[in-house]
Amino acid sequence: MNPSKPLILLIEDDQQTRRFLKTSLGHKGWRIIEAGDGKTGLAMLKNDKPDLVVLDLGLPDMDGISVTKRLRQISDIPVLILSARSQEQNKIMALDAGADDYLTKPFGTGELHSRLQALLRRINRGHPVAEVFQTGQLKVDLALRKVFINNQEVSITPIEFRLLSILVRQAGLVATHRQMLTEVWGIEHINDQHYLRIYMGQLRHKLEINPARPRYLLTEIGVGYRLAVYES
Ligand code: CA
Repeated sequence: MNPSKPLILLIEDDQQTRRFLKTSLGHKGWRIIEAGDGKTGLAMLKNDKPDLVVLDLGLPDMDGISVTKRLRQISDIPVLILSARSQEQNKIMALDAGADDYLTKPFGTGELHSRLQALLRRINRGHPVAEVFQTGQLKVDLALRKVFINNQEVSITPIEFRLLSILVRQAGLVATHRQMLTEVWGIEHINDQHYLRIYMGQLRHKLEINPARPRYLLTEIGVGYRLAVYES
């Protein structure tokens, strides 16, 4: 891949959205190739070797969940879902099928750009995650399993640390309830969302200035959590 000009495969049937994305991403220096349906998109994925996929959930020939599943059989490429408000459930299914993040229409270019930046970091996941991760005043030392706010160490439990490290690993991207519950408690607990509410609440009390208005540990309603990324 050419790191200065990533190639985005846009799978979207709506011409207006395509035009908007092409213009706004072009300004940022991204290169775009387009497909108007799922089948064409999957063929282009194989032939054109893009760096990222932006996938609309409502396509004329296949639904976005099937496209995501097929795509995951052949590739580890980062996938950003575009969903309409009416596709809430499909969005969660697409994330659980292996999509990396989502944007709900309508969205702004700033939001789109920050999501794509987070996905670009995900491309570099092949490299080990830096041992010390920092966003704003929050610092997480993954090797030493220590957490700091304003350089003051915060005491956290092993479960809190595991939840936090999932979010750090995919900083800026959403982690679904299902993913977090599976990784920390096991697949038999995928419906125990109250576990997450309790432990994420505890983490917020330890890490946030105002736990009711979190700056780092953001809630994605009905979907999961996201660690906000700030330049330090
Ligand atoms: Ca559509």
